Amino acid sequence: VSLKALLLRQIAAGGPMRLADYMAACLAHPEFGYYMTRDPLGAGGDFTTAPEVSQMYGELIGLALATAWQDQGRPAPFCLAELGPGRGTLMTDLLRATARVPGFGEGARLHLVETSPALRAAQARRLPGAAWCDRVEALPDLPLFLVANEFLDALPIRQFVADGGRWRERMVGAAGDRLVPGLSPPLPLPLPPAPDGTVAEVSPAAEAVGREIGGRLARRGGLALLIDYGEWEGTGDSLQAVQGHRPADPFAAPGEADLTAHVAFGAVARAAEAAGARAAGFAEQGAFLARLGIEARAAALARARPDREDDIRAQLTRLVAPDQMGSLFKVLALTGPGAAAPPGFDSG
Ligand code: SAH
Repeated sequence: VSLKALLLRQIAAGGPMRLADYMAACLAHPEFGYYMTRDPLGAGGDFTTAPEVSQMYGELIGLALATAWQDQGRPAPFCLAELGPGRGTLMTDLLRATARVPGFGEGARLHLVETSPALRAAQARRLPGAAWCDRVEALPDLPLFLVANEFLDALPIRQFVADGGRWRERMVGAAGDRLVPGLSPPLPLPLPPAPDGTVAEVSPAAEAVGREIGGRLARRGGLALLIDYGEWEGTGDSLQAVQGHRPADPFAAPGEADLTAHVAFGAVARAAEAAGARAAGFAEQGAFLARLGIEARAAALARARPDREDDIRAQLTRLVAPDQMGSLFKVLALTGPGAAAPPGFDSG
């Protein structure tokens, strides 16, 4: 059996499925889901992420969270959380960089939100003090200092497509033994009319994460840094599949390719604000890392390891250059309503 066969059977019985349900099955099916069965990161996997590019990334994020923790009066105990920690690289670098911040390590209750058994095992090897949760809702009720890197892009999206003055939903159906995208009958949606073919994307799951984090920040304080590729407002169809570091057809091999969508940060921020939090900053990754001092950090690392200077320069470029990760990736900062401006943003 394969996931494709299961989905074809399901569609034969119940008709075409929503894109969000297809995406959820591809990524998180307990037996065949993409993240359930493998470690997708790094050169031998399907894609590489900022924490895997350089230790500087997790270090600077750690210092940003620890600075905000100090600015907010060093609440202890507090929940130090990461959503979708992958191999645990970012958190390992974060903990090393903050080890000398007095009280931070002692006060931290480390919680990782991760569904993949394979990745939980990889995280456990590097983060012996951690506890795991399946969902953000299960984090302890404490002041919350949280990071999520390339997590929101893996949450299921729905797409609506304008057609003849009405809106239809993107569905996944079957044509023989192939899975193919299609459209639902017209839906009564509260969306303004748009030219034919316009795609409106929403991620109810990403907005729910924003709402849950926002409620906790409003009640208990803290800082959440949500980092991903995307824009403030969605810009149409952004569904993409990647397999072996190459673009792939999202419908060809369910469960075999990573499926992601760009994050519409404004929708996540509005959900957090509706729950009482504040959207305290929004910046491109390159500018954010520059304000946190990545140039100086790179120079210090290069002084310590002159033999690795070229590598360190290349890592720096990869993280901050506008034509690499610097502009495509954005950072959204959420805080409680009364918190000081977080480090790394214009106002901060
Ligand atoms: N943050 C890491 C890994 C990014 S890959 C890095 O930057 O390298 C996405 C991560 O989110 C993986 O750890 C994956 O298993 C996890 N993940 C994806 N969907 C999830 C969900 N719905 N709930 C919890 N974890 C999820």
